[in-house]
Amino acid sequence: MSESLDLFRLQKLDTRIDEIDRRLKEIDLALNDNQRVKRAQKKYKSAQNKAKEIRIKLHLIEDKVEAQKLKRKTTQNVLFSGKVKNPKELEDLQMESDALKRYIARLEDEQLEAMIENEAAEEAENEARKNLEQAKGTTAEENAELLGEQDKLEKDLDRLILEKKAVLGSIPPGNLSLYKKLRKAKHGTAVAAVSDGGCSVCGQALTPADLQAVRASNALVYCPSCGRILYGG
Ligand SMILES: [Zn+2]
Repeated sequence: MSESLDLFRLQKLDTRIDEIDRRLKEIDLALNDNQRVKRAQKKYKSAQNKAKEIRIKLHLIEDKVEAQKLKRKTTQNVLFSGKVKNPKELEDLQMESDALKRYIARLEDEQLEAMIENEAAEEAENEARKNLEQAKGTTAEENAELLGEQDKLEKDLDRLILEKKAVLGSIPPGNLSLYKKLRKAKHGTAVAAVSDGGCSVCGQALTPADLQAVRASNALVYCPSCGRILYGG
């Protein structure tokens, strides 16, 4: 009885240890994966660059408008100063002033377009910055949760390893090497409990003679279908 009981205990511990190992690996991967933040950072950077580009464009147009307005003002000052008397010269100045006026109007249209573009780009930049902050916050929250789980699992693991050491001390070496071989061959599960008169792993129904042998447990009994060591409970 106690031989299969100890193996069953060992199996339960190993199964739990395997589960924890798997989960700890998953957590490790998740903690090192900050795709969400990286994506948001990339989008923010590109929104920032675009906004900067448009800001520069807007400033260039504003400077141009200012320069042309100044030029026109100078022309008009000369025109209305009364110093120029020659009609041809006056006509030329008037034409120049009109041409400048048209040019300024065109530039001001461009300026207005650039202002609208600039506003949209700044809005997009703000939006992208908010998204980045949000992504960072969400990731930090998730990481805090994962770190908490990791901490708990590591403590569980320490305890389970101690328990396993204690169980190992009571298992004969022959049984242990058998167990290890079976565990390797049977996807980690070497020992199957009997439940409802059958093997709880593969479902094979057991004959009354098998069931009795498991209960009597003078020797290890194997599932006739999957070959695992049976434990009667
Ligand atoms: Zn079985």
